[in-house]
Amino acid sequence: MTAGYTHEIDRCVAEINKLAAAGADIVRVAVPEKKDTEALREILPRVRVPIVADVHFHFQRALEAIEAGVHKIRLNPGNITDRKQVIDVIQACKSAQGGRGIPIRVGVNEGSIIERKDKQKRMKELGAFFSGHKHGHLLAIMIAKLEEYLDIFYEQNFHEIVISAKSMDAAFVVEAYTEISKRFEHPLHLGVTHAGPKETGTIRSVAALGGLLINGIGDTIRISYANDPIYEVQDGLELLYCLGLRERVGVDLIACPTCGRIQVDLFTLVQDVRRALAEKVTVPMKVAVMGCIVNGPGEAEGADVAVFAGDRRGIIYVQGERVANVPEPEILERLLAECLAFQERVQRGEAKLGEKKVDIIPPDPIGELGSGFDKIAGGQVQKSVGLTIGKS
Ligand code: SF4
Repeated sequence: MTAGYTHEIDRCVAEINKLAAAGADIVRVAVPEKKDTEALREILPRVRVPIVADVHFHFQRALEAIEAGVHKIRLNPGNITDRKQVIDVIQACKSAQGGRGIPIRVGVNEGSIIERKDKQKRMKELGAFFSGHKHGHLLAIMIAKLEEYLDIFYEQNFHEIVISAKSMDAAFVVEAYTEISKRFEHPLHLGVTHAGPKETGTIRSVAALGGLLINGIGDTIRISYANDPIYEVQDGLELLYCLGLRERVGVDLIACPTCGRIQVDLFTLVQDVRRALAEKVTVPMKVAVMGCIVNGPGEAEGADVAVFAGDRRGIIYVQGERVANVPEPEILERLLAECLAFQERVQRGEAKLGEKKVDIIPPDPIGELGSGFDKIAGGQVQKSVGLTIGKS
């Protein structure tokens, strides 16, 4: 979703195109005022992704946005409740786009379906439903509200519906969408709303959406947090890549977390490699940046290009073949050169991604890398400490 004002046409067009270039397939814009829906007429011909108009409170904005040519409407049952108004929007969507019609997303977000003043009372009234669920009362309200609202659509024989049921509570999001997926046939738009700053919002969103997606629930996603929407798109794409739901574009960078064996500035190296490769590599090659030759090869399994650091040096491998042993200041430049050369070979059809696994016989770590193997072998360096999930 764009963060700027829709009526600032040039800025809005630039933001939509930037999000699309970053990988967004659909972009939503807010249309709180008439000047926003009027702006859509100029915005739509200048962008190449479908645009969703986000409508709250004023059903007229939906009608104006449809007239302007948007590709989808998002309605909020919590603040557009008048039956006649909803029917007007449904009919307009049915005949939109020269009669082809456009879909409506019904967003029963936690924050908007419950009138705050009587939230407690309604939760008590509906408490008998879903008593086995952790969030039973709230889930009951959401489902009841959704069924009641969708009846208006069904009565109009309108079925181009997408449902969303967002909340800021990741566990509730999983529970709500799981329940909704069992009860309704419509596509689901997944999201965690008001997820907070990027640092925690990413975890909150990925925890919920990852769990749902891996179980086959969800058709579109939005990661949302208080930061530049470009990061939301990047994080959303990475989630899809990680789950194997979308073919990766560009580098799949793996890196070790470092431990007591490290003898180079690996954190800086990883960030430098990430930035350099993001700009220049477009084929989905796997690149590994590992802190040492002791455990690195095993941990970098499957990498097309890998660097294993030692004492202020790095050994670089391309599909299992050692191609360089360079001092630390030259690692970045040489690794980048090897990645680009490998990319060209792939593009020319002379090499295949993931064809050869990293199969490396570690060199003499003291002689070639001076990586302190004697310290490790002598037990002076501890193994890394992992995280324990749950209580033991
Ligand atoms: S063992 Fe080597 S590769 Fe693994 S975390 Fe430690 S430094 Fe990195």
